[in-house]
Amino acid sequence: MSDCIFCKIIAGELPSKKVYEDEQIVAFHDIQPASPIHALIIPKKHIASLADAGEEDWNIIGQIQRVAAQIARELDVEESGYRVITNIGANAGQIVHHLHYHLMAGARLSPLGV
Ligand code: IMP
Repeated sequence: MSDCIFCKIIAGELPSKKVYEDEQIVAFHDIQPASPIHALIIPKKHIASLADAGEEDWNIIGQIQRVAAQIARELDVEESGYRVITNIGANAGQIVHHLHYHLMAGARLSPLGV
């Protein structure tokens, strides 16, 4: 999508600090980290959110979980713990409408909730 910032990152039109890339998935550091380690893992295919995933997308969404675990291992936060979440829609605070999973670690994270 031409007006999607994450599609622009995928296309190399915007800079990013990549931590992982394969044919279908890319991960990079969040520009405004909310924890000492804060990466975003996204499919290269433009999917607006988890709610917009189709049958053909579940495999790649599963692969994103695998990549999250791999990055956590590589960044050495597997033992101390980490969080993987995706925001869907307004109440969850989704700002960028390209499916992304936040990988957060490096400190005691606050509980989820309102
Ligand atoms: P959301 O609230 O779940 O949509 O999260 C979007 C995330 O994307 C936020 O944590 C932003 O800081 C992050 N973000 C926005 N633009 C960029 C960028 O250009 N590079 C890296 N992260 C970004």
